Amino acid sequence: MKKICSAASLMEAQIMLDLLEHANIAARLFNEHAQGGVGDIPFTHAYPEVWVVRDSDFARGQAIVRAFEKTPAETRVVFCRACGEENPRNFQLCWKCGAGLEAMWG
Ligand SMILES: [Zn+2]
Repeated sequence: MKKICSAASLMEAQIMLDLLEHANIAARLFNEHAQGGVGDIPFTHAYPEVWVVRDSDFARGQAIVRAFEKTPAETRVVFCRACGEENPRNFQLCWKCGAGLEAMWG
């Protein structure tokens, strides 16, 4: 197991995980519940972490993550399920109505 990156948000981590899985790289998500509830700042803030299961996948996985990070910001938006407003993917709460955006990822 090797840590490949810390994601800015659970959504970002989930996207990276999907990308890695599509490339047949076994990956795990840690700290997925690290981000607190609405208006709640956890005392020890931890970011979601993406790890590759096989060390031999590390370089390939890192290239995928790098490519994702270079994706233009305008293609990295998320739509609020509550009000339909567009939000940057790194937002955890809808700027308009305050609904939790990570709920989109189940
Ligand atoms: Zn909203």
